[in-house]
Amino acid sequence: MAKILVVEDEQPISDLITMNLKLVGHQYIKAFTGAEALSIIEREPLDLILLDVMLPELDGFELMQRLRSRQLPVIMITAKDSLTDRITGFELGAEDYIIKPFEILEMLARINVVLRRSPTAEQSIVIDGIEIRLEERQVYQNGSVIELTAREFELLEVLIQNKNIALSRERLLELAWGYDFAGETRTVDVHIRQLRKKLGWEERIKTVYKLGYRLEVEGGA
Ligand code: CA
Repeated sequence: MAKILVVEDEQPISDLITMNLKLVGHQYIKAFTGAEALSIIEREPLDLILLDVMLPELDGFELMQRLRSRQLPVIMITAKDSLTDRITGFELGAEDYIIKPFEILEMLARINVVLRRSPTAEQSIVIDGIEIRLEERQVYQNGSVIELTAREFELLEVLIQNKNIALSRERLLELAWGYDFAGETRTVDVHIRQLRKKLGWEERIKTVYKLGYRLEVEGGA
């Protein structure tokens, strides 16, 4: 599952694309102008952009120019079977392109190829609106980064990998600190307290009496 920004000013095409993204289990956000797309990109963590070239305000190429510093894969959508457009798109860093009218299955296949190439697209977990990107080692809430220390992130990762399992303080030290830290299990408590506070996970990270902690996550999250 990926989070995809669909930048397309023609409503029927936008609807067709997003309906099919949803069917195969992707999340999407719609933007109808280049400017709108830019503001969404500023605040939302995304895995991929589907970008129409011909857009009002700011066209697809101008938008790509502004995105150059970001590691965000882009698939261009163009109405014209124009070689110049394709070359310009690739020069600006597009991963692929689709020519309108396109087959939905082809679009989905190209999206999958691009997502597989992209290291940040996978390994993203969302719990309570908090997105944990394991590859990036970043945690986001509403598009903003929640600052965690390296150790807090390690601990979070261990809790997620062992969700719904009670872990002793000793085991957590072993897994998150990577060495035997016997006698200093209070270190775990301090870090758990920080994680709970920063993520708002007072209820998610349960204290297991006389043992340690457990991250409670329902379903397949
Ligand atoms: Ca257009």
